[in-house]
Amino acid sequence: MNRNEALFEQAKQVIPGGVNSPVRAFGSVGGVPRFIKKAQGAYVWDENDQQYIDYVGSWGPAIVGHAHPEVIEAVCEVALDGLSFGAPTEGEVRIAEEIIKLVPSVEQVRLVSSGTEATMSAIRLARGFTGRDKIIKFEGCYHGHSDSLLVKAGSGLLTFGNPSSAGVPADFTKHTIVLAYNDVAQLQNTFSQIGDEIACVILEPIAGNMNMVQPSAEFVQALRGLTEQHGAVLIYDEVMTGFRVALGCAQSLHGITPDLTTMGKVIGGGMPLAAFGGRKDIMACISPLGGVYQAGTLSGNPLAVTAGLKTLEIIQRPGFYGTLNHNCERLLSGLNAAAQAAGVPFSSQYVGGMFGFYFNDKIPQSFADVSDSDKNAFKSFFHGMLERGVSFAPSAFEASFMSAAHTDALIDETIARAQDCFKA
Ligand code: PMP
Repeated sequence: MNRNEALFEQAKQVIPGGVNSPVRAFGSVGGVPRFIKKAQGAYVWDENDQQYIDYVGSWGPAIVGHAHPEVIEAVCEVALDGLSFGAPTEGEVRIAEEIIKLVPSVEQVRLVSSGTEATMSAIRLARGFTGRDKIIKFEGCYHGHSDSLLVKAGSGLLTFGNPSSAGVPADFTKHTIVLAYNDVAQLQNTFSQIGDEIACVILEPIAGNMNMVQPSAEFVQALRGLTEQHGAVLIYDEVMTGFRVALGCAQSLHGITPDLTTMGKVIGGGMPLAAFGGRKDIMACISPLGGVYQAGTLSGNPLAVTAGLKTLEIIQRPGFYGTLNHNCERLLSGLNAAAQAAGVPFSSQYVGGMFGFYFNDKIPQSFADVSDSDKNAFKSFFHGMLERGVSFAPSAFEASFMSAAHTDALIDETIARAQDCFKA
């Protein structure tokens, strides 16, 4: 038994499934998860001292590369002054100002510790602000694991959502309506019937939890138009896309001004930090100003804020997003060519530092399209690449992440290993 195998066996005795977040268990691809002991730049190392070129990036945060020396130095320095105070700090003000500067739709922002908290709080806020209960989400979008968001579609349009997790009462999800991503007609139809009962619509503005799916321009314009017309709050869940696809987040690419935005991952630079923010009149409804309660012992943690501030500083340097785009372009054209040479149906796309690849001839537009991809081909590719020292997310339903630390040489090395893998 190697160390990964031994640790997984040990872990399963004391942690359910051996992991602290389900996808880490390799459930959909099989095999033994790698226990990571170190990460640097574009690399991670497992407990067997095997090195991997990493395209998971801690599921998004590692946009400047793992353990960036400037981020580590800043965190170490503030750690000497104490880890948590449960009181306001200057750093919180600075990161709020920075977020507001970069994302104009955000006029005020509150910090939390996870994306789940950010979306859960944004939805409570939207309900408190509108005085309405119903919310709309889209099939294949993930917004964390709060009760009202763990919902799968009902059997037809305008049926109430059913819980997609045990332990969630149907009473908690009966106000959640699940629609198909990119289906403008269904959205219009829903708003024409119950538009004035909708508190908010939440979406992943570029979906990254059903592999990667982009919205059409008509879809996001319909969303903005209909929510405005009916007094519903539009929430862009940019936990994954925020500062990942562009410096101004996905909303800047869409030319859409949402009412609320949720963020996480990149803004914490690898530490537990997330946020929700938006229109000042809506944010004024939160406690202590307003009646919508929301709180957190570790909210705005000084170490997390420091890692986030340094990361936000680095991504604003000239050429940063050009590098991410260049890297994705280089990798995906290499992977496309390698698949084509091997006669494997394959397609791919990227925006900034986020990319998706599919064992499918065409780029998916919805959860149904993604589900049509060849999952066995993905599994073989995933394990083939892992054996060759390249780490992708262990599921065909997850996007992948590029960092600025991925050099041309590392990307070419990835492509060479993929050629070998496709041949095999
Ligand atoms: N929203 C989106 C779009 C996400 O991708 C995620 C996590 N992958 C979340 C919310 C939940 O964030 P967290 O895991 O930090 O709770």
